Amino acid sequence: MSKTFYPNQTIGILGAGQLGKMLGQSAQKMGYRVEMYDESDSACGFAVSHHTETGSFDDHERVVAFARSVDVLTYEFENINGEILADLHTRTFLPQNTAFLLLVQNRLSEKAWLTEQGMPCADYGEVRSLVDLQAEVERIGFPCILKRTRFGYDGKGQFRLNSEADLAKSTELAGMLEAECVLEAFYPFDYEASIVIARDTFGTIDCFPTVINQHVDGILFTSLTAQVPEAVQTKMTAIATKIAQESELVGVCGIEFFVSNSGEVVVNELAPRPHNTGHYTIEGTNVSQFDQHILAITGRPLLPTRLLTPTLMVNILGQHIPEIPELIKHFPQAIIHLYDKGEPRYQRKMGHFSLMADSMAALEMLVNQDSLIKRWRKAVRTEANT
Ligand code: ATP
Ligand code: MG
Repeated sequence: MSKTFYPNQTIGILGAGQLGKMLGQSAQKMGYRVEMYDESDSACGFAVSHHTETGSFDDHERVVAFARSVDVLTYEFENINGEILADLHTRTFLPQNTAFLLLVQNRLSEKAWLTEQGMPCADYGEVRSLVDLQAEVERIGFPCILKRTRFGYDGKGQFRLNSEADLAKSTELAGMLEAECVLEAFYPFDYEASIVIARDTFGTIDCFPTVINQHVDGILFTSLTAQVPEAVQTKMTAIATKIAQESELVGVCGIEFFVSNSGEVVVNELAPRPHNTGHYTIEGTNVSQFDQHILAITGRPLLPTRLLTPTLMVNILGQHIPEIPELIKHFPQAIIHLYDKGEPRYQRKMGHFSLMADSMAALEMLVNQDSLIKRWRKAVRTEANT
């Protein structure tokens, strides 16, 4: 059932981190009232919320009470308690597809669904014990990555196995295997790319331009609106469109891909919410991923997206914060977003900046050769290895 929500009505957002905050900013710009719920009373999104509620995400009663006080509900993260989620449907309007959300909360069910839909992903197997692990390593081979099936972000809850010697790291492996895991073949990608796709309640689908992403130590560092070969783009667009259709998505979904040097494409993971690699859309496209999400969940038609200008997005981590004045001196044209998340801990995402240029070539030069970007990338690697 589709329903339209108008400016002045209230959008509730579960989670008031940076994604909730940017969703709230979009919603407010469009005239909606915003209410946010978070576990922390200093959540950064609260600064842009008409009304705030603090409580545990597992507190069934409080979450339901919050949901009842808003006209339409959305969320900034995918790990919402399944039982509460089922109940929320009867208490408020929750336009996003709950079945799809539950499915992607677990890497195993996510991969099983992708495989069922005929979509390619790296070879994988279920691992619940050391015995399972040994059997799956035998089948998949080295290198491979053991991942917790739930609650992973920024490469946390992952353990890479390069050789037999890594199978002997019993303390680390025992720690990992306290929870259900998946073993994935290491995909020898040439580059990583992603697409944010949007679908509205009328079934219209719109793809944001593709970005090429560079990660450092499992954390997204840069996203660039680079041109990928046409054949690769065609494959990625077809996969993204099918995912949006088959999942009956409402709102936006980030889709991460690995691309091999022969142009093969596999899906890494899905996130049915705004995505870090889509932050460039705030400046780079005519409508942002946050705007599209708000349009979709309020039952309004999507706007067709187009790239305004080649854009590079660079994440700002805790260790980069003291260098903001230097960053401004170095890139006076940068649009800097700081989320106001409090303590700038090492490797914690604190903000991002966007750089626009007339040509993709100019941005490619920056991402590969600029001294500040090189230094930030290097500093992370050096410290993480010590
Ligand atoms: P994020 O929060 O950034 O999405 P995450 O914790 O959900 O990260 P993944 O996306 O699974 O984790 O992995 C993080 C990064 O680690 C990937 O972007 C990629 O660089 C690398 N990686 C993960 N799985 C594989 C794989 N099977 N083959 C090659 N590289 C991988
Ligand atoms: Mg990822």
